[in-house]
Amino acid sequence: MVEKNRIFTLLDHGHCLTKEAEAILDTAAGLAEAREIVGRLEETLHPRMPAAGLAAPQIGISKQVFIFSWNRSPGHLEAAINPSFQALSEEKTFGWEGCFSIPLALANVPRYQAILATYTTPDNERVTYKLHGFAARVFQHEWDHLQGIQNIHRPDADVKEFATSEEIMAFIQEVKKGDVANYIKPKKQ
Ligand SMILES: [Zn+2]
Repeated sequence: MVEKNRIFTLLDHGHCLTKEAEAILDTAAGLAEAREIVGRLEETLHPRMPAAGLAAPQIGISKQVFIFSWNRSPGHLEAAINPSFQALSEEKTFGWEGCFSIPLALANVPRYQAILATYTTPDNERVTYKLHGFAARVFQHEWDHLQGIQNIHRPDADVKEFATSEEIMAFIQEVKKGDVANYIKPKKQ
């Protein structure tokens, strides 16, 4: 039994962050399991909002489910089950990313600027959205978690370490201000 509302970090014993997550089965039982995971993710992330997203491996569940918000708002949290994406162009942009599972370090990571994201919703609809800017970045960050990849471990990441939580929080506040210009609402395809 995993502790309620806990987010695992790389420093925690027994985390599953570096493991590839299993797909959710396309059955009634699989959907029920995914819905329960989405509920747990929302319950865990809500007290920490505004925030960009959270993936199941971060709460100790090695399954292909995450939640994400294109503008860090709780009103725009979407749940993605068995997600995939394709880049719409080769264009990548750098941006600083924080992560609840990485204490005291941020990564400046190049991500595709525009992607087509496909996933199953908790209503069991397979949907495709065009994501740009921050939404595309968050989707790629959360998708990495399902592959067992943390942003600081990406070969293309520039990692900055901090001595205290005050220092990292101050840096993140500035990053969040800059992100606002890249909040672009996803378009359903
Ligand atoms: Zn993360």
